[in-house]
Amino acid sequence: LSVLSTDSSHLARARATVVGMGALGCRVSSALARAGVGELTLVDFDRVELSNLQRQPLYRPDCVGLPKAIVAAEALRKEAASTTAISGAEERLDGANAKRLLGDRDVVIDATDDPATKLLLNHECIRAGVPLVHGGVVRTGGVAMAIVPGATACLACTFAPESTFADDGCAAFGILAPVAGVVGSIQGFLALSLLLGARRVAGRLYAYELRATRWRTMRVPRDPNCTVCGTIGTCAA
Ligand SMILES: [Zn+2]
Repeated sequence: LSVLSTDSSHLARARATVVGMGALGCRVSSALARAGVGELTLVDFDRVELSNLQRQPLYRPDCVGLPKAIVAAEALRKEAASTTAISGAEERLDGANAKRLLGDRDVVIDATDDPATKLLLNHECIRAGVPLVHGGVVRTGGVAMAIVPGATACLACTFAPESTFADDGCAAFGILAPVAGVVGSIQGFLALSLLLGARRVAGRLYAYELRATRWRTMRVPRDPNCTVCGTIGTCAA
């Protein structure tokens, strides 16, 4: 994996969007900014709450009440000291703004915590042909997976609609800060791998359980009848 630390010129031309600036978004955006990704857009419509501070390291007590996307962009400009052009978009992702926020990106990171937005992100990225790095945390575990449209399974191939994925909102269960740190860091690794052309990481589901301190990795097959990606052609990863 020496390529990950050497090919900075490739990264400097890359454009990435992180959707959701909670616990996962803080970790993964920090990794991308510090690595020197050329352009980074942070999308979140929410504002900082006091209860966020224990697991969202880009925010401080004096940021409570301010827009997460704007505060996080400012914090990263200060802490990362990189050449990354960082912008914050205080918006809720929907069908109307998806093309502008995601369409011309080299990679998009799903750091959201609600199933509807995850499925929308999956649909929009498959349609636009943009690689997506999924991440989700619940209780003491989490998953991450890099999705390359046309080459790997998508989110809809991987999780049945009625699976626990549909319940992984932190509002319902609460999450542990260390779990989000681990999963967000893996998302950063997957995103940087894709940007550097190391696409073999894609199509594998990385599942982490904190209590067992164990990763499980499984290759997920494409579903030829998938309602989201089943109709698009096949290309090499
Ligand atoms: Zn699919």
